Amino acid sequence: MSDSMIIVTTLQELWQALRLLDRPLGLVPTMGYLHEGHLSLVQRARQECASVAVSIFVNPTQFGPNEDLSRYPRNIERDLKLLETACADLVWLPTNEVMYPTGFQTWVTVETLTAPLEGAMRPGHFRGVTTVVSKLFNAVRPDKAYFGQKDAQQAAVIRQMTNDLSYPIEVIVCPTVREPDGLAMSSRNSYLNAEERRAATVLFRALSAAQQAYQNGERNAETLRRIMRETVQTEPLARLQYVSCADYDTLQELETVSGKTLLSMAVFIGNTRLIDNFVLG
Ligand code: AMP
Repeated sequence: MSDSMIIVTTLQELWQALRLLDRPLGLVPTMGYLHEGHLSLVQRARQECASVAVSIFVNPTQFGPNEDLSRYPRNIERDLKLLETACADLVWLPTNEVMYPTGFQTWVTVETLTAPLEGAMRPGHFRGVTTVVSKLFNAVRPDKAYFGQKDAQQAAVIRQMTNDLSYPIEVIVCPTVREPDGLAMSSRNSYLNAEERRAATVLFRALSAAQQAYQNGERNAETLRRIMRETVQTEPLARLQYVSCADYDTLQELETVSGKTLLSMAVFIGNTRLIDNFVLG
């Protein structure tokens, strides 16, 4: 751990700074507008690594044409203060030109695992994610990289990419950090007005209802999906995009729950799209 936090933008600055950092090095990739969920990843990296690097980059290639790239919340000053307090050693703030220089034309894609769920709803999203994370891995060359269970499919896809491309990096997935009322922390929660913020707990309530049914012995996946759907439908400000009860490893929809299972959903609260998930078994 170094005395003061180093902040870099270009690849040359990054590579120079990396020479000063002790190993093992942990990397926490983020899009900024940091909250306790992000900071939990930094804390975990701090516990497990001699040095901690954090990247902040709102990656344009993972946003669809009708998504929220232009209005995605940003506050670099605040983020840097939070990271200083969290004892990060290095913060990398690449520009679009650093990540996607003119003429950029190389992409990383994970196939089967990106087909369902978020991949089905957000065409091209995971191609953007895996390409940028691959570039972050190549540039930073961390020993460990930290991701949140909040984005369950993203974590699975990155684990797959890391194995398939033989990155010598340990992918560590950390638990979802929630507000006291159960809402999963997300930079996008800042879009919600007071009424929508109250309605947004419906994701947690729906997942909790399905989990309760599972704990009471329910193993029919369609029944669990129906419980989630019906709970979301009780909330007038919510519009359900999908609910899923899928195999944890393959993300394929189940008929019967037996092994490790992912309950997940995407719900619009007003114009804000929120996702959440629970793991069963
Ligand atoms: P983002 O800035 O939204 O791209 O998130 C950066 C990383 O933080 C990703 O690995 C997310 O899964 C993780 N993350 C976001 N929200 C949470 C949360 N509430 N709890 C734990 N990790 C989170």
